[in-house]
Amino acid sequence: MMKPFARSPLRASAASGDPGRGDVPGGPETGRIWQRDASRAIASRWLDEARQHQQAVTALWIDIDRFRQINDTFGHASGDRIIHALARRIQAVAPANCPCVRMGSDEFVLLIKGQSPHDTELLARHILTKVAQPLALNGINIHPSVSIGLHRSQSGESANQLLERADRAMIDAKRHGGNRYVWSGQEEVPGVLGIERSRRELAVAATLHEALNCNGMWLRYQPVVRPDGSLEAVEALMSCAIGQPPVSPGEFIPVAEKIGMIDRLGEWSLVEGALCAARLHRQGWPTKVAINVSRAQLLSECFLTALHGALLYANVPPQWIELELTESLFMEPSPTVQNNLQRIREIGVGLAIDDFGTGYSCLANLKDLPATKLKFDRAFIMCLPDDRRALAIVNAMTDLAHRLGLIVVAEGVETQAQLTLCEDAGLDATQGYFHAKPMPEHQLLSWLETHHHER
Ligand code: C2E
Ligand code: CA
Ligand code: CA
Repeated sequence: MMKPFARSPLRASAASGDPGRGDVPGGPETGRIWQRDASRAIASRWLDEARQHQQAVTALWIDIDRFRQINDTFGHASGDRIIHALARRIQAVAPANCPCVRMGSDEFVLLIKGQSPHDTELLARHILTKVAQPLALNGINIHPSVSIGLHRSQSGESANQLLERADRAMIDAKRHGGNRYVWSGQEEVPGVLGIERSRRELAVAATLHEALNCNGMWLRYQPVVRPDGSLEAVEALMSCAIGQPPVSPGEFIPVAEKIGMIDRLGEWSLVEGALCAARLHRQGWPTKVAINVSRAQLLSECFLTALHGALLYANVPPQWIELELTESLFMEPSPTVQNNLQRIREIGVGLAIDDFGTGYSCLANLKDLPATKLKFDRAFIMCLPDDRRALAIVNAMTDLAHRLGLIVVAEGVETQAQLTLCEDAGLDATQGYFHAKPMPEHQLLSWLETHHHER
């Protein structure tokens, strides 16, 4: 579904800062915002090229939320300024060599070649964060946001179909309140795509039931390493051994939340993680085990009972356990969540802000959070060493977090160059494939022995 090229008098070239060239199709396609007329030609050329190199193309359809309200309230000239500013923000985080196409007054499409779905999601989150920075308009700070529809090309698909599916996903993102991304095929609309998704969810739910009933769940552990080589912690990550290929936690955790299975899974990972902490200590590795906790778990009045139960059952002191929660959970207004957070800290269990930088929390709130650790999301690390702005954020935030008494960790460190930059920034510890991938407990023990990590 394409919207008519509407109202805004803004020429695309203005957004690119390159007067008179923005609507010329066929030139170099990167670093500029292109007009809609050129978009299909560019998309289909990209698709053709990608097919030749057997790469997938992903379209990100980006639409400014509440743009009509902004236009009606502040006038079209201000509306145009918003479009310019947001176009620049989107371009600032878009990978090099990827065209950004103007589809309508307040809509853009970004085309990416050969990126994994996970990396596309990181990019979408990066765009959401970048766009959400306050923007001064007529003396008022407005907080813009966008809705993003994602679609990855499938074989035999035309450029039009690629764009249409991304557009449809964007509309679903908008329907759910905006300021989010939605993959095509995950829209909650009836139709073939919606049915495919619910079929997949049912299959994942069946796999989870089977895994829980026949010991098919297990935890993998990934070390978090300090600059001197000693262990800051190990993170426990859930795995499901059933299903071919095995279902990833990124897929089964949301399903478990939806079907009410997360409490059981969460309790299981608390107990398993605590038992692992006890075994590691017994074998001379006095480290914390960090366990991931989801929103649904923290919304439950029974969470504290489950946590206490795990500590007692494994006979470990609270200091040996740390819980990882995403940023937004700390801001969750629910009294149950806030009460759970306070009580977790009172009993002495550590609290880490996971995936920091991908939510939309206000920096000022950091000072009030009951957290003990901050973990930079992989999105900040994966673009190092090239992205000097990401590095500036890592440096400044590390300093700020230290002043607030937090331990600062980076996840997703894959190269020596990234490690060096993180250490230069003063990070307390790093985690990522550069040190080790998540592994079963017996492998973790031999990894610890081999790497002679200080105990
Ligand atoms: P997370 O908590 O951010 O976990 C880190 C993810 O990044 C893990 O993916 C890990 O394997 C991956 N990772 C670590 N280092 C690198 C690296 O250098 N490069 C790359 N490309 N990836 C790296 P995994 O195991 O697929 O878990 C995905 C997410 O699922 C986790 O993200 C977490 O949000 C959730 N999850 C995993 N286990 C649990 C659990 O027990 N409970 C809950 N509630 N959520 C869990
Ligand atoms: Ca985590
Ligand atoms: Ca994380």
